Formats: sequence, structure tokens, C-alpha cells
Amino acid sequence: MMESCIFCRIIRGEIPSRKIFEDDDIVAFHDIHPAAPVHFMLIPKAHVESLAHADDTHRDVLGKMMVLAPRLAKELGLNDGFRTIVNTGRVGGQEVLHLHMHVLGGKDRLPPMLARN
Ligand code: AMP
Ligand code: ZN
Repeated sequence: MMESCIFCRIIRGEIPSRKIFEDDDIVAFHDIHPAAPVHFMLIPKAHVESLAHADDTHRDVLGKMMVLAPRLAKELGLNDGFRTIVNTGRVGGQEVLHLHMHVLGGKDRLPPMLARN
């Protein structure tokens, strides 16, 4: 699983990515199919399948990701807000099974998060 996990492969440098940030615990890189003018994601280096698989041992890295997101957003020019998304599991529409936080933004207001029926 960690062998074939696409984000683990990005962490190991086996797949190219446009990296924004890296330390011992976290990597941030641009999304390959951006859904907004700026669209990047933060991932823990440790393979965690989803937020539903996180436990107390992941508190520090998840806290770091939350604090890092606004810092990187600002560095990329998102001075007037941004959106963070963590898709989780089937219902959440998660496609890559390695926990990741999307950060999206740009000049204009983003569309509504979800359409209301
Ligand atoms: P999710 O639907 O939340 O699992 O989002 C997965 C995201 O990963 C999508 O926005 C994809 O565009 C993105 N993605 C998939 N493969 C790559 C890759 N090799 N490099 C960068 N982003 C990727
Ligand atoms: Zn992984």
C-alpha cells in the first residue's frame, strides 16, 4: 500500500511534483489538476489513509498542517482568504487514500462549498 500510494511516491521523489514546502513531517505541493488559481495540498509524510484513520499519535502533525496552511497560503499570495478541504472516505469523495488537506484560493470568491438542494 505504501509502496504504491501515489503520495508516498511523491514523498520519496519517485513521482515528480511541484513542491512548495518540506520538513521532517510534512510535504506541500501544487495539485496536478488545480480547481482554483492556487491549489496545493499538505500531506503528512507518514502514510495515514484518511482523517477517519487518524488517532492521538497524529495530533502534532495535523496541528502543524493547520498552522502551516495559512502561512503557505500567504506566501502564495492568498491574502484575502482561502479554503481548506479534507475529503474523507467514499462519502467525502476521497480519491487518493493518503490523508491530505487541499488549500484553494485566488483573486475571486470561490464557488459555494456544496450546492444546496
Ligand atoms: P481527493 O479527491 O481529495 O482525494 O484529491 C486528490 C487530489 O490529488 C486531486 O485534486 C488530484 O488532482 C490530486 N493529485 C493526484 N495525483 C497527483 C499528483 N501526481 N500530483 C499532484 N496532485 C495530484
Ligand atoms: Zn501514502
